[in-house]
Amino acid sequence: MRIGLIDVDGHNYPNLALMKLSAFYKANGHTVDLVTPDRANEYDAGFASKVFSFTPMPELPKHIEVGGSGADVAKKLPEEIEYICPDYGLYGLDYSLGFLTRGCIRACPWCIVPEKEGGITAHADIAEFARHRDVVLMDNNVLASEHGLRQIEKIAALNLRVDFNQGLDTRLLDDGAARLLAKVTWLKPIRLACDSRAMMPHVQRAVERLRWHNATPRRYSVYVLVKEIPDAIERVRFLKTLNVEPFAQPYRDFRTGGKPTREQWDFAYWVNNKPLYNSVAWEDYVKHKG
Ligand code: SF4
Repeated sequence: MRIGLIDVDGHNYPNLALMKLSAFYKANGHTVDLVTPDRANEYDAGFASKVFSFTPMPELPKHIEVGGSGADVAKKLPEEIEYICPDYGLYGLDYSLGFLTRGCIRACPWCIVPEKEGGITAHADIAEFARHRDVVLMDNNVLASEHGLRQIEKIAALNLRVDFNQGLDTRLLDDGAARLLAKVTWLKPIRLACDSRAMMPHVQRAVERLRWHNATPRRYSVYVLVKEIPDAIERVRFLKTLNVEPFAQPYRDFRTGGKPTREQWDFAYWVNNKPLYNSVAWEDYVKHKG
């Protein structure tokens, strides 16, 4: 059978579910291609994955099954596909990608994870899907899981180079966690998050602990959710005093798919464009833009 896989909105990022579907169907003797929606009719069967709620859904023929959190948060891959090693060749990746844990212990109102995945659970062993030295891990709160912490020990022992690209929860980053993270070789600077002012003391303590234990590189990256600009600017200025790298993300309501405002986009552009951020104050940038 010829299977067509359609990545609806993952323009800058490989789709893990499609890579698993590809591995499964190829292992069962089928031909699998990653295709654009207009070619769906050339295939006997197919799957489309839509990650974001705010992206448009293309018109697809009935024999294409649609999934992904942007289409249906409750829909899951069958067990035999969920735990298969992904077909990294589908996107020509030279690194591995996956989850050690799913879910999260928290319930931040802006986040889809609690609704989609529930509380924290052990998901996989790193050996199940790591096929390269470099591994990108998309866990939402790995430090909240005993299994996750044991997996980080294993990652350090295997000398893999990793990036927890969703950030680490600074409230859980105690001395033990900082010591453990310092054993790891990092693909990118360690990522933390400062999504509200209440997080500032936690971020400060986490940065101090990571530096104390010499987790390198020592200039960490910190996600900054941008909702109200005065609140975000206060957090960004605070992060500057810690000598860490802010990365601004404009707020989107995942329930309504509401778009960020022009000001939120401008703010994120100013923060994330480092030559601009390092040389021009926000107020001057706003004046210049008129
Ligand atoms: S800690 Fe992170 S993953 Fe967990 S609910 Fe909050 S934003 Fe979502």
